[in-house]
Amino acid sequence: MFCSKCGHSLSEQDKFCPECGTAVAAEAVPQATPLPSEANPLPQNPFPFVNTPSYSLRSPMMIATLVVGIISICLSALNYMGIPYVHLGGIVLGIIAISLASKDKRDVGFYSKGGLVTGILGLSLGVLAIIIGILLASAV
Ligand SMILES: [Zn+2]
Repeated sequence: MFCSKCGHSLSEQDKFCPECGTAVAAEAVPQATPLPSEANPLPQNPFPFVNTPSYSLRSPMMIATLVVGIISICLSALNYMGIPYVHLGGIVLGIIAISLASKDKRDVGFYSKGGLVTGILGLSLGVLAIIIGILLASAV
């Protein structure tokens, strides 16, 4: 082993280079430096209101989710009555209702469950309307 600064030959016991005085141990032994940012992360809850029982799960957003899901079903159903293209809106609204409902991670809200069910129904009806439309078009 040699001094990193001057290249002088060193023994294992040398802490400093006898030639130039450069510290040997700091060079030879890489120290495991702890990462200060990741070593001690502060356990912070960004949503302190989540565990609060008084927080209302029947929030306006979840009610809107249910409404969007119902509109999705209506639009998709209207296509079966001969109105063109409304089922495309039903599919979009169905996807919106499902994505909104899935944000309710606590999974206890009546409205989010309703929004999920109605969203899936509206989406399925809309997709079914497209399939039927393709089958009818190819049959002609
Ligand atoms: Zn040296």
